[in-house]
Amino acid sequence: MEILRTVAELRSWSRSARSAAGNNVGLVPTMGALHDGHASLIRASHAACSNVVVSIFVNPTQFGPNEDYARYPRSFDADCALAEAEGANVIFAPSVEELYPTGATTFVEVEGLGNLLDGASRPGHFRGVASVVAKLLIAAEPDQAFFGQKDAAQVAVIRRMVTDLRLATEIVVCPIVRDPDGLALSSRNVYLTPAERSLALTLSRAIREIESLTAAGERHSATLLEATRKIFSSVPEIRVDYMALVDWATLKPVGFAAPGTIFAIAVLVGPTRLIDNTILT
Ligand code: AMP
Repeated sequence: MEILRTVAELRSWSRSARSAAGNNVGLVPTMGALHDGHASLIRASHAACSNVVVSIFVNPTQFGPNEDYARYPRSFDADCALAEAEGANVIFAPSVEELYPTGATTFVEVEGLGNLLDGASRPGHFRGVASVVAKLLIAAEPDQAFFGQKDAAQVAVIRRMVTDLRLATEIVVCPIVRDPDGLALSSRNVYLTPAERSLALTLSRAIREIESLTAAGERHSATLLEATRKIFSSVPEIRVDYMALVDWATLKPVGFAAPGTIFAIAVLVGPTRLIDNTILT
């Protein structure tokens, strides 16, 4: 497995990888601190593409001024070992200067979506995400790029951007990987104390509640959200940032849950922000 540091190297690797007949390239963008959720994306990419590049880049522009950029977990050697074991051919690990050359002023703004859900509580977050993903897609020119449903609003923003910019990459979304007790895997779970970790299970309890109510035929957003609010009202240690039933493409609230609706939730457990969601069928 090769480790590439520059956009020029990545572009030339990707072009030569795709030059042989029948070959294609899959990209898995990550911020490192890889876990089984990331592994599932790399496996999906390996299954679909003859060449797989995993990018590892803690993107400064998607963090707010008081967020955890400096202390975000970094474990490069372990990440390389995991990526290689799951079938990655290349790690792309650029410096900040490589992706944001001195004086960089060009950003991608997905208007109308970028300020909803996480974008509402983390101003500028999706501008940073869209910008870095655009840079990665332009550099790697992948046939497919793999993202987790875990970051459902991010998926909506990226799909919109890829459509709007007419990028040639197909966006593939992979299911949420959870610990056996239901907690969605996240690089930020390492911040949780044991007590916070058990409080965090309230998220997956809320998800299961929505899934069972909708399976039983309940469709009214107000009723569904009332049920999950009740769950959180019994756990005052958790601050709910947002809890919403939205259309997955527009991220706008819906009055009735229908196919294409997601239940999305973000909370603060102590200082740690956690997100989760489920797609309603
Ligand atoms: P991150 O390194 O947190 O930026 O995540 C990189 C990619 O991994 C994103 O597309 C995430 O949605 C995805 N991902 C993170 N956690 C999970 C999970 N528990 N299950 C599936 N995909 C995930």
